[in-house]
Amino acid sequence: MDFSKFMISGILVLGALFVGFDSKAQKGPTLEPKLTEVWEPVPAKVTPGENNAAPSDAIILFDGKDLNEWVNSKGGPAEWIVEEDAMTVKPKTGAIKSKLKFSDFQLHIEWRAPSEIVGEGQGRGNSGIFMMEKYELQVLDSYESKTYSNGQAGSIYKQSIPLVNACKGPGEWQTYDVIFMAPEFTEQGTLKSPARITVLHNGILIQNNFELKGPTEYNRLPKYEAHGKGSITLQDHGNPVSYRNIWIREL
Ligand code: MG
Repeated sequence: MDFSKFMISGILVLGALFVGFDSKAQKGPTLEPKLTEVWEPVPAKVTPGENNAAPSDAIILFDGKDLNEWVNSKGGPAEWIVEEDAMTVKPKTGAIKSKLKFSDFQLHIEWRAPSEIVGEGQGRGNSGIFMMEKYELQVLDSYESKTYSNGQAGSIYKQSIPLVNACKGPGEWQTYDVIFMAPEFTEQGTLKSPARITVLHNGILIQNNFELKGPTEYNRLPKYEAHGKGSITLQDHGNPVSYRNIWIREL
């Protein structure tokens, strides 16, 4: 190939677009760098929080002071115990759910299994965080306690085993950072795209864009049914699990 002729014709045809030719032909011609710069839109500025504090554009669901953003499953006042900047499950008062409803979001939540070890397996430090009231990310003391892998801490209950066990010990605060994409449905109510979830547990990736098969179920197979936005629900499984520093960013 006459390289210089090729160069000249290239420059004539493409003008400023064409400024050279990579010897590795499969990579294609090089371009004037400015042509591949995108300047609009400019992302909105967000001020990050220090030490897991909420960034400036987050909605704070729990800041340690009160349960004003939460109700019980019947819509009445949430009865969990608030003390020392945390809320703790008050067994038998039932799940609580956020007053606000969400679809796609980033969620930060911190949890702690009781320091006093009681029970084992699914009976030790069990709670759970339900996205849209239907899709459970398991909260459990799985530090040194055996249970079925798709039901341990960090599992998408009975659907997805966490990539690793990133648990800290009972009584220690742990973090979940969740990116959740809601399922989409057609006007006829059939599934268009499944829910997807990514989870970091104590900063470690444990669920990587997992596609949910439907709501997480205890004793049946998951099956989607069309629904709109939903609350974040925290489960009362009879164990005094605590939560703190809960914030969410709608996507
Ligand atoms: Mg649970």
